[in-house]
Amino acid sequence: MSKSDTEVAIIGGGAAGIAAGRRLVDAGIDCLVIEARDRLGGRGWSVPAPTGEIIDLGCGWLHSADRNPWSDIAAQQGCTIDKAPPPWTKPSLDIGFPLGDQRAFHEALDAFYDRMETVAQREPDAPAAAALEPGNRWNGLLSAVGTFISGGELVRVSARDFDNYADNGVNWRVVEGYGAMMATHAAGVPVVLGCPVQRVDHSGTRLRIETSRGTIAAAQVIVTLPTNVLTAMEDLFAPGLPDKTAAAHDLPLGHDDKLFIALEGAAEFERDSRLFGRTDGPTAAYHLRPFGRPMIEAYFGGALAAELEAGGANAFYRFAVDELTGLLGADFAKRLKPIRVHAWGTDPFARGAYSFALPGKTASRQVLAAPVDERLFFAGEACSKHDYSTAHGAYRTGIAAADAVIAARRPA
Ligand SMILES: Cc1cc2nc3c(=O)[nH]c(=O)nc-3n(C[C@H](O)[C@H](O)[C@H](O)COP(=O)(O)OP(=O)(O)OC[C@H]3O[C@@H](n4cnc5c(N)ncnc54)[C@H](O)[C@@H]3O)c2cc1C
Repeated sequence: MSKSDTEVAIIGGGAAGIAAGRRLVDAGIDCLVIEARDRLGGRGWSVPAPTGEIIDLGCGWLHSADRNPWSDIAAQQGCTIDKAPPPWTKPSLDIGFPLGDQRAFHEALDAFYDRMETVAQREPDAPAAAALEPGNRWNGLLSAVGTFISGGELVRVSARDFDNYADNGVNWRVVEGYGAMMATHAAGVPVVLGCPVQRVDHSGTRLRIETSRGTIAAAQVIVTLPTNVLTAMEDLFAPGLPDKTAAAHDLPLGHDDKLFIALEGAAEFERDSRLFGRTDGPTAAYHLRPFGRPMIEAYFGGALAAELEAGGANAFYRFAVDELTGLLGADFAKRLKPIRVHAWGTDPFARGAYSFALPGKTASRQVLAAPVDERLFFAGEACSKHDYSTAHGAYRTGIAAADAVIAARRPA
């Protein structure tokens, strides 16, 4: 390993770790990002499709784009920002979902969000499913959309946390890839790849970060691991940090996965349009011609995504083909070819998609984010109160942790 001693060790090279590393390097502080994978970006991951376009297997949307720090970074890098409106802000295709029903669904969705605001005020905090109206014909689709947003089924998700999420409705994309753009932002930040951290020993005056490739000593550490990784690594901290472990348990990552499918004769469909496989229960959302490309981006959430992950990569494709041929006829299958899917739940360095709080556990986001002894700092999307589950939320927590490190290093 190139470096066995550093001032600040940053565990994890995703959005939060990259932001923290960049900030520390710019402040002239010696640091090292220690990353388990052989690439940077974490849950941001851009790969080429066989036809050459870059697809994002993880984050793709610059949510709240006009207040999203990654938008400026993408622009500074000279990336192409696509501002075409996302499929969920326009009517879906009139296939299996007549426009009148779509209007009724959108009214039901607005009413659901309004009720969520009220339910979120309740003591004690209730599951987000309490905002569903018993017997409402749209509950199946509202629940499916809930899993795209949260990753968890609404019965498991805190209503208050759901309501805390802040989004201003501006959504852009990076043509060259969100994940690739984030990784580029780490240029010049010292990084060690392929180096899973196994333990953080904070019993001595200097921290000892034990990895698969040896021990790294540091004065301070910023931990950016996904919550499901923290809960899976029971002995990560020595001595143990039971508050952190409990907070990570309160903020599990749900399931969300994307499958990209090549589509022949795509021009028949409007660019950035959408279909739901069904409107009365668990289903995938099909984004047709993303960026105008000849493909379909299928999005799976919650228990459905978990079940398909258990079935292997082909299970996603079979499910999508079944739903799409149900809407467009059996011959439609001949126009489809799988490109790529990534199962984030079975990915050992993510173990899920993004965090939601269990009912009654919103405060755990602050517990997770709180530093320990001015030496151990925490960042990552789960630490964000209002921008959790996003790449810009992760970025901001990384900057906050780096700033806290810088402040702790100043002489009193
Ligand atoms: C399918 C999907 C779609 C999404 N869509 C969007 C979207 O459109 N817009 C949006 O803003 N967000 C989206 N997100 C969420 C967004 O990708 C994440 O919130 C964000 O990337 C998390 O960044 P992070 O730094 O907190 O965590 P991560 O990116 O997970 O970074 C943590 C890093 O720690 C590393 N690591 C794990 N274990 C170890 C170990 N033992 N030792 C060392 N390193 C380790 C990991 O490899 C990883 O690189 C999506 C996520 C998924 C899965």
